[in-house]
Amino acid sequence: MIVLKFGGTSVGSVENFKKVASIVQDCKENKIVVLSAMSGVTNTLVSISDLLRASNRSEALQKIDALNEKYVSVAKDLLESDEGFYKAQIILKKHHQILKSVSEEVFTAQNEKIVMAQGELVSTNLFQLYLEELALESALLSALDFMFIDQHGEPKSALIKDRISKVLANHQVTTFITQGFICRNEANQIDNLNRGGSDYSASLIGAAVNASQIQIWTDIDGMHNNDPRYVDQTFSVQELSFDEAAELAYFGAKILHPQSIIPAQESNIPVLLKNTFKPESAGTLIHNKAKVQKIRAIAAKDSITAIKIKSYRMLMAYGFIKKIFEVFEEHKTSIDMITTSEVAVSLTIDDTSKLHEITNELQAFGNIEVDSDLSIICIAGDLSQNKKGVTSAIFDGLRNIPIRMISYGGSNYNLSFLVKTTDKIAVLNILNEGLFKEVALEEEIQA
Ligand code: ADP
Ligand code: ASP
Ligand code: MG
Repeated sequence: MIVLKFGGTSVGSVENFKKVASIVQDCKENKIVVLSAMSGVTNTLVSISDLLRASNRSEALQKIDALNEKYVSVAKDLLESDEGFYKAQIILKKHHQILKSVSEEVFTAQNEKIVMAQGELVSTNLFQLYLEELALESALLSALDFMFIDQHGEPKSALIKDRISKVLANHQVTTFITQGFICRNEANQIDNLNRGGSDYSASLIGAAVNASQIQIWTDIDGMHNNDPRYVDQTFSVQELSFDEAAELAYFGAKILHPQSIIPAQESNIPVLLKNTFKPESAGTLIHNKAKVQKIRAIAAKDSITAIKIKSYRMLMAYGFIKKIFEVFEEHKTSIDMITTSEVAVSLTIDDTSKLHEITNELQAFGNIEVDSDLSIICIAGDLSQNKKGVTSAIFDGLRNIPIRMISYGGSNYNLSFLVKTTDKIAVLNILNEGLFKEVALEEEIQA
């Protein structure tokens, strides 16, 4: 079994739906196709939710109607047979009605989850009708029947495995279609795996069915060595180890949801990143036999807040850091980076929802300084500490950039440091010049 996940742009238009169908048709193995919502739809659903929360029902309804009109026009162009279009209209009417009903109720957190789930439910339905027109037999599975998370938002892997195998056994087809992103929570209510979560769905499904490969199809030819949104001269990386890919995803490489590599890595299932619009290009293979390469790629994670706790009571005092960590544990806030000196601890968080409570409690331990609008720059590769020259190669070009924290030595695959977000683009470009220029030239010559 292979899992093929297609992101928003891959199913963003009639033309692109057709491209996805042809990739699915070309894949001769048994497969589960995981789809995102059409591009822009989840953002629209977020803005509908925002309007309803603000009790702006009329503007929300305008957006709900506009979304429905867009769907109807896509269905009309995609489905040539009257029967196919008729079936689509029934489905679209149902989803239009769900959004309209929600808009009439008091807007709750649960209603928001229901709104957010509609994008993937519609895209998968339209896609299945299109496959039906192509006479490609398939079964549409509802992710709500097997994708479960616990009270902490963590996937329930054993339950997912059990449920999906039962659901698959009910059908005699070789092509299954299901939704990314959506799931059910501990209370059996509709929930989701957070923005970009369809990658995570694909990886969880791949692990649950013990797939031979998980393919993530998107709008770029695999993981690039640097963020193509901010750096011009980037190139596709041929292969990555699971650890490198996990670090890059966690530290901001948008091509992968932050947690999406973990299930594949735990089950040792290779992940192939491919371009829907250039299927002939090799993409990036993430597997456990990736050849060692000194510096593989760079990513950046924004919206980071640094907290410094300064206290002379730390001197020679054991148990001090434990007490500080307990404050973060109590508020379920995870720490990304940490550095210590004899009299201070600096650490970073990206979730600031409990910042006020955390800093209040930390005041008992010393002076607190909080710095926001920071970015973590993550460099992934074979950065084991016995390598000479790695750190000077990285920091040589950055002499004019103030660096707030550095973390190195925690893992063999990562060096990260903290800068002001206003310096991020400059840093990514300087590092690209300094670390990859020769490789980029080689790639150009080979291309
Ligand atoms: P999808 O909708 O298919 O899930 P995303 O927009 O989530 O696609 O991810 C693909 C995008 O990730 C690319 O278009 C690119 O702009 C961005 N991106 C950021 N960092 C990287 C990177 N290191 N390599 C490739 N793409 C990256
Ligand atoms: N549709 C969801 C989002 O836009 C999930 C995904 O595309 O991965 O965040
Ligand atoms: Mg994505």
